[in-house]
Amino acid sequence: MEIQFIGAAQTVTGSQHLLYINGKKILLDCGLYQGKRKKAFEINRTFKYSPSEIDVLLLSHAHIDHSGKIPGMIKNGFNGPIYTTAATVDLCQIMLRDSAHLQERDIYVVNKIRKKQHKNPFEPLYDFDDVEKAMDQFIGVQYSRPIEVAPGVMATYWDAGHILGSAGILLEINENGKKYRIGFSGDIGRSNMPIIRNPNVLRDLDLLIMESTYGNRLHAVAAEVEEEVATTVKSVVERGGKIIIPSFAVGRTQLLVYMLHKLFDQNRIPVLPIYVDSPLAVEATKIYQTHPECYDRETYRIFIQNNEDPFGFGRLTYIKNVEQSKELNDKPEPCIIISASGMAEGGRVLHHLANNIENKKNLILFVGYAAAHTLARKIIDGETEINIFGEPHKVNAEVKSMDYFSAHADQAELLNYPRLNDKNRLKNIFLVHGEEEQALPLKEKLVQKGFKNVDFPASGEKFVI
Ligand SMILES: [Zn+2]
Repeated sequence: MEIQFIGAAQTVTGSQHLLYINGKKILLDCGLYQGKRKKAFEINRTFKYSPSEIDVLLLSHAHIDHSGKIPGMIKNGFNGPIYTTAATVDLCQIMLRDSAHLQERDIYVVNKIRKKQHKNPFEPLYDFDDVEKAMDQFIGVQYSRPIEVAPGVMATYWDAGHILGSAGILLEINENGKKYRIGFSGDIGRSNMPIIRNPNVLRDLDLLIMESTYGNRLHAVAAEVEEEVATTVKSVVERGGKIIIPSFAVGRTQLLVYMLHKLFDQNRIPVLPIYVDSPLAVEATKIYQTHPECYDRETYRIFIQNNEDPFGFGRLTYIKNVEQSKELNDKPEPCIIISASGMAEGGRVLHHLANNIENKKNLILFVGYAAAHTLARKIIDGETEINIFGEPHKVNAEVKSMDYFSAHADQAELLNYPRLNDKNRLKNIFLVHGEEEQALPLKEKLVQKGFKNVDFPASGEKFVI
């Protein structure tokens, strides 16, 4: 048996790991690389393996840095099954379509420039047809039910508590009479987060491939964050301001809506209108509504038991069309507007920022990771003037950033993940999905705890097991 690390190797995005078992090639995840444009363009256009030779794809969850390269694989000849949870199949449906739309839009801009330079146009990475073909190859599986995915390879999907449908994958392998248990953590969620269940940990492993996104830091505690959100909302309403929240459409938006609904029901925030203004977030929320099998006990106790929809309540309006979105600009009263994109690099949130960032009564609240050079990062870092659609805007509004809403385990939770494993049996831990800055401190702490052979493999590195 061999394992080769292809993507999310010494970096955070582009998750892809290749297993060679019983003469078959099994790919874990097939995600898009996200980073500087030119590099991303190259990496996402090429494959370090031949897609037509891959026998089966096992997908941990729907985030685009784990699933976004799948239609490209199909376009390049992959015709095997894609096993993932039923909720992930549904989320991929909308997220891959959205990604195809973005690919076509991006390539249009690139080709306009190439035309001026008298160069041949590029094809988009993939289009809607490729997404439709890809969806035919998806097979939805249930949590905790083993399924044979290749000869001698049983896969079980365990809830990873990261986003709806996310899973850590346990592989039980029989190769020439030798038995192995391999764990792929996918992205690990946080304990005690609303909506979805706590992460299951993978146990009794011989080898673990584990994410390390927040391997170097600790997050805030849930109860304190609810209080902070409530206090923040109250003070902005008292001064007559609006709250603009740039938010990722899938996962983060639903978490915010859930928390605001709960605070509102408990009279901990004043009565005010709340808008979710993002077509993808609206679609994603519908999928959250159709998969109650993924909810945790708290969600059942507070909402489902009382016949309440956690993602819909009187004060909340979902906005799909552009006209309604524009109408929000003219509303003078305090309100909360949740809109994509999370890093304020595109999407309708740019209009809301342009309209509201100059008023000192307003609050711009960031709830996610903001990469270097993004508009979100510039605002968080305190730039006093920013450009939106080429126009300068003074940053007079209050700016706040809360990392609690992160869907990733922190260092303490990651260190706890392999706790149900025998340190002699677990021969290797491979840290993926992290930069050096995050993975190396985690590696050091795992070694201190007594785990052996903790590696941080580079892209292309291959190990014989
Ligand atoms: Zn993820």
